[in-house]
Amino acid sequence: MRLPSLVLLATLALPAMAQIPPDTLRREVDAQMPALEKTYLALHAAPELSRQEEKTSAFVAGELKRLGYDVTDHVGKYADGASAFGVVGLLKNGAGPTVLIRTDMDALPVTEETGLVYASKVRGKTPQGDDVGVMHACGHDVHMSAFLGVAAELAQHKKDWHGTVMMVGQPAEEVIQGAKAMMDDGLYTRFPRPNYVVGMHDFGNIPAGSVGISSGPMMASADSVTIVFHGAGAHGSQPQNSKDPIYMGAEFINLVQGVVSRQISPQSPGVITVGTFHAGTKNNIIPPEATLGLTIRSYDEATRQKLLDGIRNAANGVAVAYGLPADKMPTITHPEATEPTVNDAALTERVRKAAAAALGADKVLTQAAVMGSEDVGYLTDGYKIPMTFFRLGAGEPVSLASAAKAGKTLPDIHSPLFAPDYKPAIETGVVAMTAVAVSLLQ
Ligand SMILES: [Zn+2]
Ligand SMILES: [Zn+2]
Repeated sequence: MRLPSLVLLATLALPAMAQIPPDTLRREVDAQMPALEKTYLALHAAPELSRQEEKTSAFVAGELKRLGYDVTDHVGKYADGASAFGVVGLLKNGAGPTVLIRTDMDALPVTEETGLVYASKVRGKTPQGDDVGVMHACGHDVHMSAFLGVAAELAQHKKDWHGTVMMVGQPAEEVIQGAKAMMDDGLYTRFPRPNYVVGMHDFGNIPAGSVGISSGPMMASADSVTIVFHGAGAHGSQPQNSKDPIYMGAEFINLVQGVVSRQISPQSPGVITVGTFHAGTKNNIIPPEATLGLTIRSYDEATRQKLLDGIRNAANGVAVAYGLPADKMPTITHPEATEPTVNDAALTERVRKAAAAALGADKVLTQAAVMGSEDVGYLTDGYKIPMTFFRLGAGEPVSLASAAKAGKTLPDIHSPLFAPDYKPAIETGVVAMTAVAVSLLQ
């Protein structure tokens, strides 16, 4: 008696859940895997640095076209006026919501050291002209492969959804410029404004086969700040004739940590890290200038502003305390900034349900926020469009479990040793994202 009633309940529940039956979806994605594996290996072997994604974006655009999407490429304009390699693929299917599904496309200046037979041997040139190894060390090749698998599923299942699918291939994520470049090029005026934004990012320390979903802030804002202390140079034996910028920089480094410990609420975390400190040419010369490079992280705008104000006050305060005149105050610039990645609570609940129905509830993990950052938040147009960005497990489950037993972790994203368990990761990504998209496109 128990079994038939459960079957009946499951049958009744399906139309309300608005999804492709999980077994069907899994079978179809299995059938796609040989092609997606080829895609992954081809992308992994041909990584391109941020803002240089010419061939990668052409490949993504070509695949979307082949699947029947209406594709526009070269979408995006950077702040310096250069055009970007953004790709937009639209699939319209009657009245209904528009769902934007985002992948990033760029690789990192990292020389791969995995020793895998399919390891990248590519070298590239940075904007500074340095010759560097290039590797998909952040797994954007996993994202693109899964993204194309999702595009294929949605094209094949038009009877199961209505509305518009907007597949967005974003360049230059690693330098936090691509999403903004696409928005600045009229992403939501030239193309439909989405009702929902969804995306995913692989992580080496979540087992492949699972996804991690959390509501609220999941990644931090990131601000780069550069501070130049202007002093007065002198012979190293005559400090009385100098205004020593190294001394000011050192005082500043200590003072600025008080901003985190004394000026913001312990309930709203923040990070201030001084990552570079350059000054001087010789042991016995007090230089005229010192330059410090900082990164600042937080999860909310109020904390972020307090941190930025605190840095300014600390830098100026050190200079004032040392007797520098008003025209010798430090020069403070803010060359890079991105907002925190914040998942909309209601949308995240829907995403979680759809992913759990497709993968099984035990494969949907709740994840704590991290202080890493992303520029996907720009696509929410100032948080006006609900977004959910989730994590895609990419760690080989057995190695991950034995590493955990030994109190270790596996090499994760941005490591030259990062080796995602790409087959189950891509398969899980396609299943989860297709189920999420279909559930929203009703
Ligand atoms: Zn990255
Ligand atoms: Zn990444």
